[in-house]
Amino acid sequence: MRKKIVAGNWKMNLNLQEGVALATELKDALAAEKPNCDVIICTPFIHLAKVADVVAGTVVGLGAENCADKEKGAFTGEVSAAQVKSTGAQYVILGHSERRQYYGETAAILKEKVNLALANGLKVIFCIGEVLEEREAGKQNEIVGAQLADSLFDLTEEQLANVILAYEPVWAIGTGKTASSDQAEDMHAFIRGVIAGRFGEAAAENISILYGGSCKPSNARELFSKPDVDGGLIGGASLKCADFKGIIDAWK
Ligand code: PEP
Repeated sequence: MRKKIVAGNWKMNLNLQEGVALATELKDALAAEKPNCDVIICTPFIHLAKVADVVAGTVVGLGAENCADKEKGAFTGEVSAAQVKSTGAQYVILGHSERRQYYGETAAILKEKVNLALANGLKVIFCIGEVLEEREAGKQNEIVGAQLADSLFDLTEEQLANVILAYEPVWAIGTGKTASSDQAEDMHAFIRGVIAGRFGEAAAENISILYGGSCKPSNARELFSKPDVDGGLIGGASLKCADFKGIIDAWK
């Protein structure tokens, strides 16, 4: 049975003290009321080591929002997959549309990052999704299919078992516009079909596919009610404990 997951993406928000406080608040809220899904928070690099201590031994998993496409060495300002792992984090988000769009991360770069993350024992939350013009042109399946093929199709089935997918239509990220639950389900079913075509039915059945894009407590239950939507990757609403917990509770 594939996992139900709610993962937060803090992006470039919160200073160290604020991040530790939010992680502590979330940990306490989930200790009081056990979640019905896996919960992960993905934080800026600077938070990882301290937040790892806060959530150690709790239900809250921890991830980074990025890692380098190089193993180690003279790459000033970069943070390697091994360095992320050494903080106690277990996950890393790769392929977020903001990384693709603002930092020129190509499919080839992302393929390197995925390989390094998996080789260093991190689970990858791999983001895919089309921009508005592509959806308006009816090209969303073509785009998302290519994103999957170009960065993930050389993995083995064993490697893919450590990948979570996040379908994030770029037009819905941080815009307040959410894909309808039917739009999300159509795409998630398509993605599962693409995975089945390359890796087989069992791999497709087992992989968790999260929806991301203006997900909030008021729409999470409807989105998560769809058979191929296995949870959410949450940006803005992961920055307030009550909102994030409200989305987690959509699985109840
Ligand atoms: C995201 O950036 O991964 C995201 C889903 O953001 P938001 O929830 O703010 O749309």
